[in-house]
Amino acid sequence: ADEGVESVPLAFPSISLSSRERRWSDTTPYASKKKLQSWFQLPNGHWELGKIITSSGTESVISLPDGQVLKVKEESLVQANPDILDGVDDLMQLSYLNEPSVLYNLHYRYSQNMIYTKAGPVLVAINPFKIVPLYGTDYIEAYKRKAIESPHVYAIADTAIREMIRDEVNQSIIISGESGAGKTETAKIAMQYLAALGGGSGIEYEILKTNPILEAFGNAKTLRNNNSSRFGKLIEIHFSETGKISGANIQTFLLEKSRVVQCNEGERSYHIFYQLCAGAPPSLRGKLNLRNAEDYKYLRQSNCYSIAGVNDAEEFRIVVEALDVVHISKGDQESVFAMLAAVLWLGNISFAVIDNDNHVQAVEDEGLLNVAKLIGCNIEDLQLTLSTRKMKVRNDKIVQKLTLSQAMDARDALAKSIYACLFDWLVEQINRSLQVGKRRTGRSISILDIYGFESFNRNSFEQFCINYANERLQQHFNRHLFKLEQEEYIQDGIDWAKVEFEDNQDCLNLFEKRPLGLLSLLDEESTFPNGTDLTFANKLKQHLSSNSCFKEERDQAFTVCHYAGEVSYNTTGFLEKNRDLLHLDSIQLLSSCTCHLPQIFASLMLTQSEKPIVGPLHKSGGADSQKLSVGTKFKGQLFQLMQRLESTTPHFIRCIKPNNLQSPELYEQGLVLQQLRCCGVLEVVRISRSGFPTRMSHQKFAKRYGFLLLENVASQDPLSVSVAILHQFNILPEMYQVGYTKLFFRTGQIGVLEDTRNRT
Ligand code: ATP
Ligand code: MG
Repeated sequence: ADEGVESVPLAFPSISLSSRERRWSDTTPYASKKKLQSWFQLPNGHWELGKIITSSGTESVISLPDGQVLKVKEESLVQANPDILDGVDDLMQLSYLNEPSVLYNLHYRYSQNMIYTKAGPVLVAINPFKIVPLYGTDYIEAYKRKAIESPHVYAIADTAIREMIRDEVNQSIIISGESGAGKTETAKIAMQYLAALGGGSGIEYEILKTNPILEAFGNAKTLRNNNSSRFGKLIEIHFSETGKISGANIQTFLLEKSRVVQCNEGERSYHIFYQLCAGAPPSLRGKLNLRNAEDYKYLRQSNCYSIAGVNDAEEFRIVVEALDVVHISKGDQESVFAMLAAVLWLGNISFAVIDNDNHVQAVEDEGLLNVAKLIGCNIEDLQLTLSTRKMKVRNDKIVQKLTLSQAMDARDALAKSIYACLFDWLVEQINRSLQVGKRRTGRSISILDIYGFESFNRNSFEQFCINYANERLQQHFNRHLFKLEQEEYIQDGIDWAKVEFEDNQDCLNLFEKRPLGLLSLLDEESTFPNGTDLTFANKLKQHLSSNSCFKEERDQAFTVCHYAGEVSYNTTGFLEKNRDLLHLDSIQLLSSCTCHLPQIFASLMLTQSEKPIVGPLHKSGGADSQKLSVGTKFKGQLFQLMQRLESTTPHFIRCIKPNNLQSPELYEQGLVLQQLRCCGVLEVVRISRSGFPTRMSHQKFAKRYGFLLLENVASQDPLSVSVAILHQFNILPEMYQVGYTKLFFRTGQIGVLEDTRNRT
């Protein structure tokens, strides 16, 4: 048989199988049985399944699906799983846990609409970008009755409910993944199941209606997702002792405010602006002096007004209906819309140069008049607030005129603050409505829909915060998995000291350590009057360069070694984004205005200023330095979040985006692999590999492989038979552990036995 291979050249010229070779391969002893297969990575990075024709120990000849036959180095091949394992619904069942096998298995299932797969304790969900027939009452019913066992969000939600009731422990469903991967849809699917099983009181209907509201105010079209959430969300659903939903509470994290005043070409601002412009009834239009989206500068700049397949006017109707359901009065709704209109009109305010030093004044145009009317303030006060800044120099109060860019910044800061306050106020109102049973004696299931790890060509403060949050979640994830593993090992009496797990504490320390951690140093620099993004970058280099998770970069950049990979951050804009200041003048203006919702701004007064508002003015430009920085506030929120999650039994869902085109049926290996690595699915695999992921009871093992024994074993009990098999196949002692009831194997060990079994 060897002579058929001689002529095959090394490396990759694309030659097809000659008829002689084909004949040869058909008559090989394995041809009628299962062929041995291996993964082979093409120069373009794509993995292909190759059939091994011959193997010399150092080199193999393989044939690829397209007919190519290659002679390749043995070490370039990665073990493939036997065909019987194609499309297993838990990656833990794979004998060979490696990247190509995982990719293949997920793809195999995905192409048959099986978008869910377990990776041990984690549910992997691949976005189908099309309607898949997996949801609705019949499916909910089937999962409830356990008539279907295949992995599903419903199954996760079902387990959460059962464990909550059985163990009397709160549960959490933690959903992560990158933008467009399907987190928000997955969260809604989970809520749907919980509402179906725990419904009855009617409150579940209100809970579901929070989704269109939060999506209208907190989601936007981006280049990566037409409905991208620009905030993180934790919704805690409360249950009574009898397992019925009794209320809920929503917490949000880090809304992307900057989008209100600026967004990239092809993206949109928050949906609600377009919905309002398209869907407001004539009377409301009149009251707000509302125009079309195209007439507002804030909406015009990105040159994108609509989303394919979405009718904004219809969406507006849905949002109003939802606002009714969560008991936001018609009067309050109108005030909300007035604030939105005020934000839009703010963007239209223009400035005129008034002196030789390029100082400007807000022009008394339509924009200015409308804003003053909508927020209920004096036209002159608004004009002054946008064109000047009160300062205190030594003991003198002076009024400084603003240049065009300063004035535009002041205007944009005002718009952003109004919007952010509005968002917070809405969430608060929703929470009031959902807090039905004041006495909370029962249990809860929390669903976390939070931005996944991000790594772009250029990463800024937003990615810095998001990735920090993901480090915290990853630690939670690792700890949990470690605990689960340990419990099973201890139960079966095996030596678990041999299982080691990596943790990411060093990276968390890099962020959190005081006084010399990233967040502390950022805060310190943010309070220095002379601090800049450059001095901040230099300070990091000065203090952190010895840290193993930190790398210096040229100029204003630095790199953090995250669990999911290295990310370089550019410090440009860090200080300003971290300070997030609204000028005192603006705060004073808002606090004095007579708009219908002074409560909307109440939070602003509290968080922006611990000093009395009309107190002594601050020396560096009238801004208030007492306010918590964005970084520190976020860190506090995260600590609180982790504390809440710590006391729950977590269920993890990792969402994967199979392509960047939001298109069905397209599975890009490289993209999927990168996400599997980032969202820790391979981490689970890695943790499993360092442990003993394959488990089989003594009985099953003896039955399956006993016939391979060459010598009779004295005792026929399953344990003795199993041990004899292990010896005969020279399975190394460090590759397995014998437990009370089960055998535990390192990855791949069962595969060796399976191969022998298949060959026999
Ligand atoms: P972001 O981080 O930007 O908020 P995300 O992870 O929340 O992204 P989603 O908004 O949930 O992503 O999903 C993006 C789109 O993918 C949805 O609008 C929908 O079209 C599609 N999609 C996601 N999950 C499913 C599903 N299970 N079935 C059908 N389509 C889905
Ligand atoms: Mg989302």
